[in-house]
Amino acid sequence: MASFKHSISLSSSTDRDGLIGRASGEVHVIVGPMFAGKTTALLRRIKSEGNNGRNVAIIKSSKDTRYAINSIVTHDGAKFPCWALPDLSSFRKKYGDEAYEKLDVIGIDEAQFFEDLYDFCCKAADHDGKTVVVAGLDGDYLRRSFGSVLDIIPLADTVTKLTARCELCGKRAFFTLRKTEETKTELIGGADVYMPVCRQHHVNGQVVMEAARSVLESHKLKSDSFLEAAAPVV
Ligand SMILES: [Zn+2]
Repeated sequence: MASFKHSISLSSSTDRDGLIGRASGEVHVIVGPMFAGKTTALLRRIKSEGNNGRNVAIIKSSKDTRYAINSIVTHDGAKFPCWALPDLSSFRKKYGDEAYEKLDVIGIDEAQFFEDLYDFCCKAADHDGKTVVVAGLDGDYLRRSFGSVLDIIPLADTVTKLTARCELCGKRAFFTLRKTEETKTELIGGADVYMPVCRQHHVNGQVVMEAARSVLESHKLKSDSFLEAAAPVV
């Protein structure tokens, strides 16, 4: 009977029996396009956890240096201190083992830039009992899966997709449109480079941008060959 009980209510019985030495962790994922308020939602959550007496820390990617290096600033100007790191695996060492042990809640912003997101969330929530709140882009400007954000959906307790307002028509915006000719996936920028758009305007915008890009590309090819010819030999 006992083993049957264990098999049907694993988490409560293992907790009660002390088989897991600490409270089990949680993973919460906040996704959406740019300007949907993901960072604001993350900060709100982390602040309220902090107000409830829990130890909190926020990690952001050191790739994004748009506003400040050691703080997170939302598009509406709210600020919070954070750890800017190139990867998540270095967090524990930098934060200190003892301090890490005491930590209850870890926020991760711009999660699409962390390649080791899956392993970090597994370790932090499953083994270390942390609550991990992750905010990031689910898709890039071409609506392709961005980084490892979608890989952690199977690990998550909750998933929230936020929306913005389409900059062209005011409807709900689910996607991010890049306004420049640059085609690499990771291009850090704000409203100068990106805008939130609805489905219709993403599709239309994509057609317009591709046409613009090919025009710019042909101009660039001409000017590049001119620059190469003019560049001094070193
Ligand atoms: Zn629209």
